[in-house]
Amino acid sequence: MPSHSRFSSAQICAYAVFLLALILPAALPAQVYAGRPKLIVVVIIDQFRGDYLSRDRSEFKGRGFRLFMDQGAWFTDCYYDYANTKTAPGHATIGTGAYSDGHGIDSNEFWDASRSFDVKVSSVEDERYQLVDLPHDSIPANLPGAPSYAAKFVLGASPLNLRATTLGDELRLATQGRSRVYGVSLKDRAAILPTGQSANGAFWIDTLSGQFTTSTYYMEHLPEWAHAFNASGRIAQAAREANAEGTTQFFDLVGRTPAANRYELDFAKALITGEHLGQRGVTDLVVISLSPNDIQGHQFGPDSDSEEQMILSLDRDLDGFNSWLDQTIGLNNVWMALTADHGVAPVPGEAAKLGIHAVAVDMDKVYDTLNKELNKLHSHGQHVDYLLPEPDLPYIVLDKRAFKKAGMDEKTAEDEVAGLLPAAVAGQDPAPPPFLTTIPPTAVQPVQHRLAPAPHVEHVYTRLQLASGQLPPSEWGRELAHSYTEHGNWSVMMVLDAYQMAGTGQFAGTNHFSPWSYDRHVPLAFYGAPFVPGEYHERVAPVDLAATLASLAGVNQPSAAVGRVLTEALKAIKPALSGNEQ
Ligand SMILES: [Zn+2]
Repeated sequence: MPSHSRFSSAQICAYAVFLLALILPAALPAQVYAGRPKLIVVVIIDQFRGDYLSRDRSEFKGRGFRLFMDQGAWFTDCYYDYANTKTAPGHATIGTGAYSDGHGIDSNEFWDASRSFDVKVSSVEDERYQLVDLPHDSIPANLPGAPSYAAKFVLGASPLNLRATTLGDELRLATQGRSRVYGVSLKDRAAILPTGQSANGAFWIDTLSGQFTTSTYYMEHLPEWAHAFNASGRIAQAAREANAEGTTQFFDLVGRTPAANRYELDFAKALITGEHLGQRGVTDLVVISLSPNDIQGHQFGPDSDSEEQMILSLDRDLDGFNSWLDQTIGLNNVWMALTADHGVAPVPGEAAKLGIHAVAVDMDKVYDTLNKELNKLHSHGQHVDYLLPEPDLPYIVLDKRAFKKAGMDEKTAEDEVAGLLPAAVAGQDPAPPPFLTTIPPTAVQPVQHRLAPAPHVEHVYTRLQLASGQLPPSEWGRELAHSYTEHGNWSVMMVLDAYQMAGTGQFAGTNHFSPWSYDRHVPLAFYGAPFVPGEYHERVAPVDLAATLASLAGVNQPSAAVGRVLTEALKAIKPALSGNEQ
């Protein structure tokens, strides 16, 4: 204190004690949250940016989002600390409390040199297993009983690529398997990756019929309650609510509507009831990943009317689900967490109208340019494909067989592609990107006199740089290091300017894949006895979710966890603090 203070140190000490007494209840119960919850529910919203909750706060009602924002610990500034912001890595990160360099998942699908140079593999596909109890029309050509018109080749799925344990795995280990752990989503990867290797079950839908299915990794047949749900008429009801009655494209036509959130939450209720979760004297875990917001969000963007309707509808549906939990298990026996697997960028044309350098980059043209340059340099008039097709930014995968044939090693090949990329991207015609009509004309700034935004590469990193950690000693470098995992290929990671993304001239949607803040910003909120309700503005990360819940549940953090326990939001538990147990 400054020397001119009119208070003595003794007075200040006494005042501090008085303040502490106000803050701490006179006699805390021995341990506020000594008891374990009966059930932990982790709700993941697929593609839900952190600012949505603030934006629509005044519109929320009941115990949907408000349960977390008003009665829980709500972290407004939660950012992924890596650069590959996609569904599979996001879900793996939430479950494991680790990033791609820890859990091994860096993309939804990837070229795996040990499995195929002809097709990409998905993050969870596993040919050693099969999908179970599919309806006849959806049985793929590679399974017995397939209809004559079956064309698909659908494989089973498992967490085979997940190299770290999850919160669920640690609960199962700590209780010798008595805790039950389940995942639910419309998407296989979103049901499997956050729940882990030892999960009792993960359920997702057959994309055509909408029926819930699983993989023989978990069970040979669906449980009775799941069969009953599939046969209950609930699919037809969801299709009716989505104005898609009789559809055979459930994922695309119903999945992108609020009706599919209700459909998923109803399945989660059937699961909790059917498996008696939260009613067996041990802590169970359910992870529910709600896919619809992502399916429609890619199409219409974060600022559209349909996004607004989806959020408000989800608020009502979460209110219904949380009230049901209260009636069946009691919310005082439940811990809940809410987060998302990634954010999203505005539709490029919409951002460009406001003057942002947003643009869609035609990656087919970039590939053509690159291949022409590489052929000029190495193939002497022949046409050789030096890049594996279907670029999935931020990654561009080299066909190492072609480069080896040209006598090049990995460093030379990756350095060359990295060197050619900026010009190949910048050489595109800077046509104004297409846009939707979500920004009212009155809000548009007069940017017509400005030049159209130009595509631009911010940086390219080679696989060898990422693998050996030759990265800037900064937050940026740390994000890149967190994104790396090994698939046996040669590759480069390309970071476009902020608000720029892959897309063709006709593309009016949007995407998420980048290290920029809008893709990394997600909600993080907790509800339950251990948490001090409040709004927290510290910068936190989704890896903190598993670390915090593991710590509170008294189990080991997942095997590769790097998250922080969010102690600022936890109630005091030391009995000594109550002053009566010295
Ligand atoms: Zn996603």
